[in-house]
Amino acid sequence: MKSRTLFAIAAIAGLFCAVALPAQVTDSTQQLSRDIFKQLVEINTTDSIGSTTVAADAMAKRLLDAGFPASDVQVLGPNDRKGNMVARIHGSGARKPLLFICHLDVVEARRADWSMDPFQFIEKDGYFYGRGTGDIKDGDTFLVTTFIRLKQEHYQPDRDLILALTADEEGGASNGVAWLIKNHRDLIEAEYVVNPDAGDFELDNGKHLLVGIQASEKLYQDFDLKVTNPGGHSSLPTSENAIYQLAESLTRLEKYQFPFELNEVTREYFSREAEIVGGQTGADMKGILQNPPDPAALARLSAIPYYNARIRTTCVATRLDGGHANNALPGMAHANVNCRILPGHSPDEIEATLVKVLGDSHIAVTHAPGLASSGIPNPPSPLRPDLMAALQKVSNQMWPGIPIVPVMDAGASDGAISRAAGLPTYGLPGLFMDVDDDRSHGRDERVRVASFYDGVDFYYRLVKALSSPQ
Ligand SMILES: [Zn+2]
Repeated sequence: MKSRTLFAIAAIAGLFCAVALPAQVTDSTQQLSRDIFKQLVEINTTDSIGSTTVAADAMAKRLLDAGFPASDVQVLGPNDRKGNMVARIHGSGARKPLLFICHLDVVEARRADWSMDPFQFIEKDGYFYGRGTGDIKDGDTFLVTTFIRLKQEHYQPDRDLILALTADEEGGASNGVAWLIKNHRDLIEAEYVVNPDAGDFELDNGKHLLVGIQASEKLYQDFDLKVTNPGGHSSLPTSENAIYQLAESLTRLEKYQFPFELNEVTREYFSREAEIVGGQTGADMKGILQNPPDPAALARLSAIPYYNARIRTTCVATRLDGGHANNALPGMAHANVNCRILPGHSPDEIEATLVKVLGDSHIAVTHAPGLASSGIPNPPSPLRPDLMAALQKVSNQMWPGIPIVPVMDAGASDGAISRAAGLPTYGLPGLFMDVDDDRSHGRDERVRVASFYDGVDFYYRLVKALSSPQ
């Protein structure tokens, strides 16, 4: 996934703007990263006709050419088209390994929808264009470039560094992170995980706004609501009508609000945002951090969808159908309810709440098939002092004065899967994107050239900061 989550606050955080610094990478590193980026974008890795194996093989070859021994680079997966690449730089073992994950697959892109060929890498007017430039072949490139540079420098980290480039984050049946955890846990076992495909580094018209580190995300889950009854001739209405029954229950759901709840990440998020945002909204953020929370502040923040989604589970009707003929009483009506569940709560628990709120025993509620992450717990990752200090250090070097804000996404990324497997996971894109120009999953996807090279520099510095002998 890749979605802007901080737009609401970014718009008012303009006070913290700073001018972009030139990238600190040399010409040869720029060329290397650009070549890798181009190669990845031009390999089609869509679920329909693409192959992550081709991309995984290409990256494996680059690592081998850079001096990685064959025993430290593997391409493996459940079938020919869904390969994952796992590589390792060996450290002294003073600390436990670090794992970097990033998906190789991209969302479908039709030539007819785009102004250019989505699988041709184009540099134009300060942007790189192509499917995956923002989600998330940029991140793949940062990591591969960093691993190549570290190997060529004969860098000796104090811990193993593991890189896993994976399949099927955007869809498809062979999610690479889930597959590796299930089949090759030993290859990727780590103290914690860093994922460029989450979090928010935000720009406003090219000016830096925020460094958002994602340490938590909600769980995605669909529920199917179904009412069936005998139906009959529409000239003889009866008291049993599937459409009315379902509609009445959905109205009860509309009025229901799941309980207010904060976790370590959202608590920290609101305490930092309160200072950035200021005014009544900032004061309200401080209000909900009190114990007990100020009810008026809670009500005002709950009325803002962006903040509401960060303080409670939400469930909303997203699809509806019923009946089978204009002149017949409906024998069936059903609806899809989409829930975004706060970390620490299970779909079963939410289903039990839904049944109670709907208040009609004739409505059958079931879990619809959902994302790979569905049905598993998804605890927030603790804000580790070592990681936060490293991030602060690198961010101060590159973007002095720009606030670092922990975030909980309302969507879902591969981090939901790794967290569920007991691996604390942190989203750090490395690439700053304009808050009003996020084209991930859309047409004419692009990223700023300057931000791309900053990302190359950022990941190199970050990996070193996280693994240099202490
Ligand atoms: Zn993504």
